[in-house]
Amino acid sequence: MTAVAEGIQVDEAALAELAGAFRGESVGPADPAYNEHRKIWNGSIDRRPALIARCAGVADVMAAVKFGRRTGLPVAVRGGGHSFPGLSVADDALLIDLSLMKGVRVNPEERTAGVQGGVMLGELEKETHAFGLAAPSGIVTYTGVAGLTLGGGVGWIMRKHGLSVDQLRRVDLVTADGEFVQATADENEDLFWGVRGGGGNFGIATEFEFNLVPLGPTVLAGPVFWAMEDSPEVLRFYRDWVADAPDELMTIVVHRKAPALPFVPEELHGKPVVMVIACWAGDPEEGEKFVRPLKEYGNPVADLCQPKPFLTHQSMFDPSFVPGRWYYFKSCDVPGLTDEIIDTTVEHSLQIKSPLTSFPIWQMGGAVSRVSDADTAFNGRNAGFTYNIGACTESADGFDEEREWVRNFWSALEPHFTTVYVNFLMDEGDDRVRQAYGAEKYDRLQALKRKYDPDNFFRINQNIPPN
Ligand SMILES: Cc1cc2nc3c(=O)[nH]c(=O)nc-3n(C[C@H](O)[C@H](O)[C@H](O)COP(=O)(O)OP(=O)(O)OC[C@H]3O[C@@H](n4cnc5c(N)ncnc54)[C@H](O)[C@@H]3O)c2cc1C
Repeated sequence: MTAVAEGIQVDEAALAELAGAFRGESVGPADPAYNEHRKIWNGSIDRRPALIARCAGVADVMAAVKFGRRTGLPVAVRGGGHSFPGLSVADDALLIDLSLMKGVRVNPEERTAGVQGGVMLGELEKETHAFGLAAPSGIVTYTGVAGLTLGGGVGWIMRKHGLSVDQLRRVDLVTADGEFVQATADENEDLFWGVRGGGGNFGIATEFEFNLVPLGPTVLAGPVFWAMEDSPEVLRFYRDWVADAPDELMTIVVHRKAPALPFVPEELHGKPVVMVIACWAGDPEEGEKFVRPLKEYGNPVADLCQPKPFLTHQSMFDPSFVPGRWYYFKSCDVPGLTDEIIDTTVEHSLQIKSPLTSFPIWQMGGAVSRVSDADTAFNGRNAGFTYNIGACTESADGFDEEREWVRNFWSALEPHFTTVYVNFLMDEGDDRVRQAYGAEKYDRLQALKRKYDPDNFFRINQNIPPN
């Protein structure tokens, strides 16, 4: 036996076999790069894996899985490292890290893109936008395509073009036995259903193939701001205005203290505001006509909703979700914004203390709601709005207080909950994972888990145990 980390011994032959097969980098606690590679987006999470296998390709992923099997080390899998609760790193585990796998290949003729498991959203978008194309993805450029897609994938163009999983054509996976499989609508269909929402429970996704849709490059997009004290009226207006919005329009409402960013007027910095951020995935002139009543409602204090390259809009949230800060979230879907929900929202938003706390309310519906609920494991297609109540502080200072604010706010919304998006869960236990899928889908996912991973080898995730 050989020690790979303090107190952790593994079979010497297994280690030699991995070393012989591996093209990427194996990084252990003694390596100078270890701390860099175990770091994830949420700075409140500090875990020390026994070994980090930084895979360079599919063969490395297969070798790493086989090494995990042989040694019995628990296995964590990292795509982009943006899991809110840090499910992409674990103490004393083998961390199978895909962050070196950055390949993106766009086929402009067929309007498809092949995307490896370590690609971030911004990396994918830069490639697709060179051809005036896009795959539906999320709203922060340095989120991982892998984890986001496996959970569903909500973002700026979903009301027009669906979730990330709705444009997925194929997934390549390495199973719990270290075998390579492909899943499409015609091959391993049960697995293809499961990976479109069921997370990393069935294998390690090494490559995704998406359909691409035409987009921009110019879109009408950006925030309109009001003072937070106006929020009760603004939200009531907003609710009625979006009720019959066309699919081109996607909006996110944010309550926060206005950030000191160059595009935010200086006199607003640090003041509590409510913003409605729009993105019109269609002709900007048409968008201008539809968005005008919003821009003219009440007394907006700033209006930054204007034609701009989609890539500029897409990176707008990046400075609000900087890696390494401390984050905590609780989420839920609600069917609609009733007066009671609006009043609860404003009451709690006025209590935000941290200048970094910024929480989105997502407008759902459109194309997302028109895909049959049974088609994918993703389960929030009938949600009206998704609350992603998040706290953020620079460090441990003030974090507990802000986290308490999240919990209280979320509890106040509890009578109105329906579903919850699995990618917006923290480490909240089995019942919440069940809630994310609903009883029927959960049973089907469990049956799939028994088929593809009966030993629950992939368990460091929003876990669906086989039994
Ligand atoms: C700043 C920020 C913005 C976000 N914005 C959005 C958004 O706009 N839309 C949205 O839908 N979600 C969003 N999310 C949530 C996001 O979808 C999840 O956090 C997702 O898990 C991130 O994927 P990742 O690859 O970065 O995650 P990781 O932390 O690497 O992994 C998350 C989970 O997926 C598993 N996993 C990762 N890669 C693979 C793989 N290749 N094969 C199998 N399993 C894998 C991991 O084991 C882990 O359980 C956001 C999160 C953050 C932090």
